Amino acid sequence: MAKKNSYRVTLIPGDGIGPEVTQAAVEVVAAAGVDIRWDRQIAGAAAFEAGGNPIPDELIQSIRKNKVALKGPLATRVGQHGFRSVNVALRKTFDLYSNFRPIKNLPGVKTAFSGVNLVVVRENTEDLYAGIEHQIAPGVVESVKVITARASTRIAEFAFAYARRAKRRKVTAIHKANIMKLSDGLFLQCAGRVAKRYPDVHYEEMIVDNACMQLVLRPGHFDVLLLENLYGDIVSDLCAGLVGGLGLVPGANLGTRYAIFEAVHGTAPDIAGKNVANPCAAILSAALMLRHLGEEAAAVRIEAAVQQVIGRGRNRTPDLGGRCGTTELTRALVRAVAS
Ligand code: NAD
Repeated sequence: MAKKNSYRVTLIPGDGIGPEVTQAAVEVVAAAGVDIRWDRQIAGAAAFEAGGNPIPDELIQSIRKNKVALKGPLATRVGQHGFRSVNVALRKTFDLYSNFRPIKNLPGVKTAFSGVNLVVVRENTEDLYAGIEHQIAPGVVESVKVITARASTRIAEFAFAYARRAKRRKVTAIHKANIMKLSDGLFLQCAGRVAKRYPDVHYEEMIVDNACMQLVLRPGHFDVLLLENLYGDIVSDLCAGLVGGLGLVPGANLGTRYAIFEAVHGTAPDIAGKNVANPCAAILSAALMLRHLGEEAAAVRIEAAVQQVIGRGRNRTPDLGGRCGTTELTRALVRAVAS
């Protein structure tokens, strides 16, 4: 019999619903029979309280060593209070330039449209997230939007290479270059140049406000969406709404050497600790991670189990109109994966 691979992966439970949904993911991955030794690390507020640093050195070293992490959401305080976003810092530290978010209808989940099958590819390292803000005079602040040819070209390259590999028909670059002529203009120029090298993938450009309307009118028009950081963040949540909400949408932050897998959703403080969070997004993120590790069969089994259990309808969390708790849904998924 072939020897089973064993992996070491950094696990960041995170804040709010993070510990509940990442625990669910750990249990479902174990049921799929993949041998993972989880290296648990704290970050954000918990790490700040414990040692005065929201991104402890142990965490950085753990990811550097393991190269792969599964992460729960981390809270970032709004406005001028508290430390800067740990999420943004991790993406920059490990140069996780590509944020990959597949968005698909699940069978049986009632939504305005059926047949939605999109992928959001979001640039993850620059734009307004560069965090360059300053006050020029009292009552006047500037926030600098950084767009570079290097980052725009490599994210476009990622989107087209993925589209070709996954046999997807089209890449839509979404922008506001009519107003931000230099920055979004450069992003588009780079995307257009890369598109020329992929004549087998159709390429189009669309202004972001129109794209938002088109997405909620006829999502079937879209296939792979290519966006800068901020538009990508906003449009991801919009697309999550098309398929039943944030409880269902997984994600991956990918670079050339490291990868951090996490759901699109945040800490959901309104439902944290109540055993009602939908763990599917975290579990599907873990499936993306297994595929990245080369455990395709286990990834497919987990995705099929989510489709089967959610499709059956008996075990749905309140966000999907059900009454099932996080732990009960997780147990049903573990049974489905193991069967
Ligand atoms: P959110 O995604 O936490 O919640 C938005 C809404 O969706 C809430 O009503 C919430 O209850 C619901 N929701 C989210 N995930 C769900 C799930 N798995 N099951 C059921 N319902 C779910 O967004 P927010 O409230 O704007 O942000 C809260 C905090 O999360 C903020 O501090 C923000 O900075 C942080 N955040 C972190 C990440 C990350 O770590 N990657 C991403 C987004 C937001």
